[in-house]
Amino acid sequence: MSKTYDNNNIFAKILRGEAPANKLYEDDNLLMFDTIDPIADVHKLLIPKKPVVDLNDFIEKCTEEEIGKFFKSVKKAAFSLGLKENEYKLSTNCGELAGQAVFHLHFHLLAGKIHGHNT
Ligand code: 5GP
Repeated sequence: MSKTYDNNNIFAKILRGEAPANKLYEDDNLLMFDTIDPIADVHKLLIPKKPVVDLNDFIEKCTEEEIGKFFKSVKKAAFSLGLKENEYKLSTNCGELAGQAVFHLHFHLLAGKIHGHNT
């Protein structure tokens, strides 16, 4: 089922430059920035530039090429932090019951010691 995207969610505003964020990596497919509430030594947020609500919405609305390009960029973003291929995790909360609080798809990139469990 297709979901309605709210153009005024905070990550949409960050993408448009209307809200501040500490941007760390950006290309045609994604933006990576610091979370305001880190739960690990390394905790970054990676968002697609496409206006999609969550992972299901991303899969439904984007082409296989777009999805593939996004994940190629995920690897580039992770490596741009100096992370190695054997030391990071990626997670996404899909829907309110999973703990999703911002309704623009985002992946939590985590590395090092984890201090909390909300992702
Ligand atoms: P969720 O619970 O939706 O999976 O994760 C939301 C993430 O967005 C959390 O890491 C939270 O700290 C982060 N977050 C919420 N509001 C803002 C904001 O205004 N700016 C930034 N940079 N991160 C935010």
